[in-house]
Amino acid sequence: MGSIDTRQFGDRDSLTLVEFLLARITEDEAVARAYLDREGASPSPLVRRVMERALDDCLARRRLVVEHAAAPHPDRVCTALKLLAAGHRDHPDHPGLQPA
Ligand SMILES: [Zn+2]
Repeated sequence: MGSIDTRQFGDRDSLTLVEFLLARITEDEAVARAYLDREGASPSPLVRRVMERALDDCLARRRLVVEHAAAPHPDRVCTALKLLAAGHRDHPDHPGLQPA
């Protein structure tokens, strides 16, 4: 998937959250792909399945982020996006927006 034009995504807090989430998804994809593409290593069928599922999850999260970010919300910053970011609350770049 190519780069995403995030300028459509509302106010600055929303944009920051969207960029933060897309960066984390890209990192997760890179880890799973690197594991699957290791030369000379053949992951067990179970590990391969888990990594492939992780990649599918990344695709789904990216789509969810883009669709929620582009949709109007009654709350200023989408709660679903804040929930997606909650698992990364210890990351130094976490925007600090907590779900209610
Ligand atoms: Zn939303």
